Amino acid sequence: MPQPASVFPRSPGAVAIVGAGIVGMSAAHFLSRAGWQVTVYDSGVLASGATGSADGAVSVASKKPGPLMTLAVAAVKFYEHLTETGILLDEYLPRSTFVVASDSEELAVLERHAAELEAAGVPIRLLKGAALAQTIGAAAPSAIAAVEVQGEGHAVGYRVVERLRQLGGFVIRRNCPISGLHMANGRVTGVITAHGTEPVDAVLLAAGLGSTHFLAGADLIRPRKGQLIVTDRAGSDAPHFPGPLMSCRYLVSKGSQPADATPEARSLGLVIDPLRTGQFLIGGSREDRDDRDTADAAIVASLLRDAVALAPSLAQLRVIRVFAGLRAATSDGMPIVGRVHGADNVWIATGFEGDGICLGPMMGRLCQQMICGQSPEQDIAPLDAARFGLTLAEAA
Ligand SMILES: Cc1cc2nc3c(=O)[nH]c(=O)nc-3n(C[C@H](O)[C@H](O)[C@H](O)COP(=O)(O)OP(=O)(O)OC[C@H]3O[C@@H](n4cnc5c(N)ncnc54)[C@H](O)[C@@H]3O)c2cc1C
Repeated sequence: MPQPASVFPRSPGAVAIVGAGIVGMSAAHFLSRAGWQVTVYDSGVLASGATGSADGAVSVASKKPGPLMTLAVAAVKFYEHLTETGILLDEYLPRSTFVVASDSEELAVLERHAAELEAAGVPIRLLKGAALAQTIGAAAPSAIAAVEVQGEGHAVGYRVVERLRQLGGFVIRRNCPISGLHMANGRVTGVITAHGTEPVDAVLLAAGLGSTHFLAGADLIRPRKGQLIVTDRAGSDAPHFPGPLMSCRYLVSKGSQPADATPEARSLGLVIDPLRTGQFLIGGSREDRDDRDTADAAIVASLLRDAVALAPSLAQLRVIRVFAGLRAATSDGMPIVGRVHGADNVWIATGFEGDGICLGPMMGRLCQQMICGQSPEQDIAPLDAARFGLTLAEAA
C-alpha cells in the first residue's frame, strides 16, 4: 500500500547524495532520470562500505516476517524489472534458496518460518527424505528437512554499483567526505566538503554507518560485523548445490525468528553460497562487540566446521580468502527511510543491516519518489525515522 501523500510535487533541482553504496547510487540513477542534477559524494571510493563486502542474496528467505518480508518480495520483483528493462541485465541471477534443518529445534524454526513465508505469498516447497537427498545432493545425511524458497536471486553489490556508474547521468565525487550540512531557515542550503560549501536544493543521506554523523540519537545505528570465507572452485564431479544452503540458525542469528535465549554478542548463522565461478562463499557472523572490519581465526574455524557438517564435500576445497564487513544495524532490525526531522529538504536511507543488496535498488527508487514529492509506491511508513524521534544533529 502506498504511503499517504503528505508531500507536494517538487521541481527538480540540485541534489546531494551522501554515500556511493548501492542505496545512494540507485537513488542517483533514478533522480537523474527524473531530471535532478545529482552529485554523489563518498568519503572513499564507490562501494567502499558494506556494499563492497557483502554476499549478494536478493532474498526473501531470511527476512523478518512483517513489513520487511513484504518489502523484500517487492524488491525481488524490482530486480526482475531492472533486468527486463536492461538496467541490470546480466547482474541479477534468479535462483532458489534452501533453508535446511538438521535437528528437531531447527525443524520447529523452519516450520514457523515457512508458514510466514507462505502467508506473505512466497512460493515454497517442503523437502524431506528422498526428495531432499535428490534435490540437494550436497547436504549431509543429518539434514532432516529443507524448504526451497523459490523466485529469488543473487546480485553482487559492487557490480550493481559499477553498472549504475556506467549508465551515468550524474556526478560522482570520490574521496570527498561531507563533514556537515549548511542550514538556513529550516532548510539545508549546502553540503560542506574540504573544498568549501556546495549549494543544494535537497540532500539524501545514504551513508550507511556514516549517516550517524548527521543525526542526533545516532547510537540507534550500530556496526554489526560479518565475516565471510571464499573457497576455490569445486570439481565437476562434486555433489550438487541447487542454490545457497541456509541453516535455520541463520534465521535466529539474524533476528528473523525469535531466539530461546538472549542473542549472543557474536553469533553464527550459516549460509553456503555457490557462486557463478564455481567457488563458494561461506558466511556469516553477526558481531556486535567489535567494529573492526577484520576477520579472525575463531569465527572462521567455527564457520568452516558448521559448513562441512552441513555439506561434507566442502572439506575437499581450499580456503583462498576471508574478509569482513560492517552492517549498519538498527535497534529494531528495520531500516530507516524517509524525511529527517529538523530540515524540510533532507531524506535518509540507512540501517539496512544484512538486507541492503536486496532492498537497495528499490529503496533508491522510493527515495527518488519521496524527493520528487510523489507518494512512494511501497508502504515505507514502518521505516520512518520518526519512530526513533531521529532529527538532524545540531552541528550537522
Ligand atoms: C558480511 C556482509 C554480508 C552481507 N550480505 C548481504 C546479502 O547477502 N544480501 C543483502 O541484501 N545484504 C547483505 N549485506 C548488507 C548490505 O551489504 C548492506 O545492507 C548494503 O550494502 C548497505 O548499502 P548502503 O548503500 O546503505 O551503505 P554502504 O554500502 O555502507 O555505503 C555507504 C557509503 O557512504 C560513504 N560515507 C559514509 N560517511 C560519509 C560521509 N560523511 N561523506 C561521504 N560519504 C560517506 C561510505 O564510504 C560508503 O561508501 C551484507 C553485509 C555484510 C557486511
